Amino acid sequence: MKVALVGVGQAGGKVTEAIAAFDDQMDFGAVRGALAVNSAQADLRSLSLDTVLVGQDRVNGHGVGGDNELGAEVMQADANQVMSSLDGRITAEAEAIVVVAGLGGGTGSGGAPVLARELSKVYSVPVYALGILPGRDEGSLYQANAGRSLKTLTREADATLLIDNDAWHDAGESVEGAFDAINQEIARRVGLLLASGEAVEGVGESVVDSSEVINTLRDGGVAALGYASAAASDDSADNINTVTSTARKALFTGTSLPDATTADAALLVVAGKPEAIPRKGVERARRMVEDETGSLQVRGGDFPLQSDQLAALVLLGGVERSDRIDEFMQRAREAQKAENEPERDPTEQFQNDELDGLF
Ligand code: GDP
Repeated sequence: MKVALVGVGQAGGKVTEAIAAFDDQMDFGAVRGALAVNSAQADLRSLSLDTVLVGQDRVNGHGVGGDNELGAEVMQADANQVMSSLDGRITAEAEAIVVVAGLGGGTGSGGAPVLARELSKVYSVPVYALGILPGRDEGSLYQANAGRSLKTLTREADATLLIDNDAWHDAGESVEGAFDAINQEIARRVGLLLASGEAVEGVGESVVDSSEVINTLRDGGVAALGYASAAASDDSADNINTVTSTARKALFTGTSLPDATTADAALLVVAGKPEAIPRKGVERARRMVEDETGSLQVRGGDFPLQSDQLAALVLLGGVERSDRIDEFMQRAREAQKAENEPERDPTEQFQNDELDGLF
């Protein structure tokens, strides 16, 4: 699927840069344009992308802090400037636009939903969001910001692919320390998904194409993306179990949104050498995805790729009913309540606490 990427805010810019670099390094050519937008000049400087600075009259290039309402305002005020910078990048070729942002901060959190709405007004191709959820250990402002941003994004974007910052970092390691590694994980998954519809070698009936990605995301809402890979034999008959176990891992342990397995629609892409991909294994894996997600719309396809590995990508559409999203929205609601409560004197708060005393 040929796309134009727009990264908003610090995380948005870094993740956009990582996806564009992966696409370039693999020579896929799915990323047809990439732009980074921020209200903080310093965050734009370090990126090797074309950039647009917004909100200069309000924040003078210093960013909006964690204020996502201000992030939305500055994006709205400068939307025309961003849209005209995108003009040349959204060529007739782009089949979708992807707005990328960390949802817990200010510029991306507030700006991404505004930009998704403005882009949808002008372009007829789908506008997707790639949103990064703050990890559990990030403060309550991040959780509250992300909840409000997610609610608005799912309304404004055609679908929102979520990445949980807790998904791929080891216990004990800080989220911040793990950003580069997480960004690489995102780039590999999203880069492969975008490229999977672009395969030219071995074009055949079983090869996946972009319309299958678009159809899987058709009903909107929240999406998740899983990935896993394993060494493969050159003989497809030996790879039946490899395909099923890899697809299972992609769904359960390699996913961008842990525990989100109830889905309305799914797409299973098996990547590898065409002669190594076993039809029987792909069919079994597809049925497994059907059983585990409860979805009756599981699409499937191959992604021919010269590699000694077989990889499974599982795109899930309509995962907002899952426990993981419930848990996150609950956390965001509590955080918003806490943020809105006036600060009380700690002594008074201690004495008036609602906890019952022992006697
Ligand atoms: P903004 O510049 O105001 O949009 O704020 P940030 O992009 O810094 O957004 C903050 C959120 O994004 C927080 O939840 C961070 O944990 C997360 N974040 C910041 N940088 C990165 C990054 O490079 N990678 C990932 N995965 N998350 C990031």
